[in-house]
Amino acid sequence: MKVMKFGGTSVGKPERMQQVAKLITTGSEPKIVVLSALSGTTNALVSIGEALAIGDKPLAKQIIDGLEAHYHAFIKNLLKNEAAIKKGEIIISEHFDFLNIILKISFNEALNKDILAQGELMSTKLFSTYLEEKGIDHALLPALDFMQIDANDEPYFDAIRVKLNRILQQHAGKKLFVTQGYICRNSKGEVDNLKRGGSDYTASLIAAAAKASVCEIWTDIDGMHNNDPRIVNKTIPVVQLSFEEAAELAYFGAKILHPTCIWPAQQEKVPVKLLNTMQPEAPGTTITQEAGSEGVKAVAAKDGIIAIKIKSSRMLLAYGFLRKIFEVFEKYKTAIDMVTTSEVAVSVTIDNDTHLAQILKELEPFGTVTTDKDQTIVSIVGNQIAQTPHILSKLFDSLLEVPVRMVSYGGSSHNVSVLVPSAYKIQTLQLLNKGVFGLE
Ligand code: ASP
Ligand code: MG
Repeated sequence: MKVMKFGGTSVGKPERMQQVAKLITTGSEPKIVVLSALSGTTNALVSIGEALAIGDKPLAKQIIDGLEAHYHAFIKNLLKNEAAIKKGEIIISEHFDFLNIILKISFNEALNKDILAQGELMSTKLFSTYLEEKGIDHALLPALDFMQIDANDEPYFDAIRVKLNRILQQHAGKKLFVTQGYICRNSKGEVDNLKRGGSDYTASLIAAAAKASVCEIWTDIDGMHNNDPRIVNKTIPVVQLSFEEAAELAYFGAKILHPTCIWPAQQEKVPVKLLNTMQPEAPGTTITQEAGSEGVKAVAAKDGIIAIKIKSSRMLLAYGFLRKIFEVFEKYKTAIDMVTTSEVAVSVTIDNDTHLAQILKELEPFGTVTTDKDQTIVSIVGNQIAQTPHILSKLFDSLLEVPVRMVSYGGSSHNVSVLVPSAYKIQTLQLLNKGVFGLE
């Protein structure tokens, strides 16, 4: 079994969706195809929810009508024969009737999740109609029948595995399955989702549950690149990464892969491939258990970071000091990314400022607290970084003119992170591209 996930841009135009149908019908291995909503749809659905939340029904109605027109135009170019177009029209009507009914009833969070689910429901049903028109045998599996999250909104993996495998057994002999990314049921049985960008997560969970041979994530770029192509002139795709390296890159800003999606595949040792729908022959990036090679592979940056420093002479030779500090962050459910310490001070970074004021207040008794906002974590990711000759010297030589605020290495041997003011982010990425990767 092979899992193939296609993102919004890969299904966002009729001709792209037709291209996806070609990609999934090559090779004899059975496949589970996971689709996102058409590009732009989830954003529109979010806007509908936001308009309803503030009681602006005319705005919600306007977005619904605009989206509906888009879908009608879409199927006219996707489908050829009249019966298929009729079927497509009925699917679209069903979902937009639902959205129009929501306009009439009182809005709440559970209803909002129902709104958000419409994108993936429609993309998969329309794709299934296209496959049918083409005479391609397949089964459409409703993700709501097997994708489940628990009371903490985390995937309930054992339930997913049992349910999915039971469903697959019921379709013995079938070679092609299509299902929705992103959507799931929560512990109350309501429609819910795996958060924005969650279709990658769905694919990885399904690949792990079905013990797939590979989990292919198809997007519109030829794999994970060594640096941000929007910021530096020349970037190259990274051919191979370990799960650890990929997790660091995804978490620290590489947009191509959702950070949560690594662990399920990693747990069941299913290789993940990042491939390009527009350039299917390109090797892309393969993520496996083994690191493959040593040295630096890529750099990623994460903005919106706040550095907090707590300085106290009482920290000198004291024990339990860090625990007390970390407890404050735990109390406010605020995750810490980087930590650096000296004998009398500790600096940590956070990216969520929701409870910043309370956190700072509770840290005050421990020492002098200072904060620096608008910081960026630049993460240099690879294997055995410090052991690879000259990497660290090249790295720091590159950053001679950058006021580095924090440096962290040793949490793993896969990552050196530096914290720089966001105003220096572009310069930092460009300098590293030249100094560490030798790319101009
Ligand atoms: N459609 C959802 C989103 O745009 C999920 C996904 O595409 O991964 O966030
Ligand atoms: Mg995505």
